[in-house]
Amino acid sequence: MSDHQFGKVRFICGKNGGKYPYNHSLYFQGEKIRAVLDPASSRQKMLGLKDEGVDEVWLSHWHEDHIHYMNLFESSDVRISERDFPPLTDLDTFLDWYGIEDPAGRGYWKKEMVETFDFRPRKTARFFRDDELIDLGGLTVQVIPTPGHTPGHLSFYVPEEGLLFVGDYDLTSFGPWYGDVASSIEETIASISKLKAIPARRWVAAHNEGLFETPPGALWDAYENVIYERQEKLMKTLDRPKTLDEICAAWIIYGRPREPKQFFEFNEKVMIGKHLEYSLRRGDIVLKDKTYKKV
Ligand SMILES: [Zn+2]
Repeated sequence: MSDHQFGKVRFICGKNGGKYPYNHSLYFQGEKIRAVLDPASSRQKMLGLKDEGVDEVWLSHWHEDHIHYMNLFESSDVRISERDFPPLTDLDTFLDWYGIEDPAGRGYWKKEMVETFDFRPRKTARFFRDDELIDLGGLTVQVIPTPGHTPGHLSFYVPEEGLLFVGDYDLTSFGPWYGDVASSIEETIASISKLKAIPARRWVAAHNEGLFETPPGALWDAYENVIYERQEKLMKTLDRPKTLDEICAAWIIYGRPREPKQFFEFNEKVMIGKHLEYSLRRGDIVLKDKTYKKV
């Protein structure tokens, strides 16, 4: 996979195929404003962009694998949705938003955030307005709110190039991620529907395959269906009442136990927690004495 130029927009391929902890970036080369979106693709490529000129750093959302290398652009304005800004202001808030409670986990992630991701608390940012149309000079970008993955997750559409950046609605076979404290399954489903309806010609996802130049119609369906498949498996697992730990032992999200155990057990639990909340809201299950039961 390599970088691609589409008019005044450049697709910048991330290291390691854009797999975590990297992502694919976009570089908008307006005549008035030049902006890099999600600068976590590669330190070397970001240093190259800095030489070309970067007026603004744009972030699709607050996750560490999207904000990495933003501090290389010290003199550039940072823009993000106001809804996703709090975790960038303070490391404890950052971990709270992930729902990491145990002291050992917090200690590990604090060190990791500072040493690997160069986390530095920010006092200010400029906020995108939902649905704002930004004129960069000979290039326009529309801000599209797509909450669910995070409350302030943004997608971006460039009408001149028919290019849609879908961020972490990344069309991977793993399916959508909604494991943060403020993630939402309902909003994820609504955001996928919204993205599907945009008449784009090119799609850029933040991870893995990254660039799609033919309509990813079936891929969108498969991606959304992962949510319903997880839900169906959960209902099957609840053939008899179970506690959260018993449900997690079925490994509905990851399919099987994986290493590092601590990391995957935590993620399995938070994603299952979201499905249980979703099922409770739908009235499919009830919770009594820490046990979930099908209605
Ligand atoms: Zn993310």
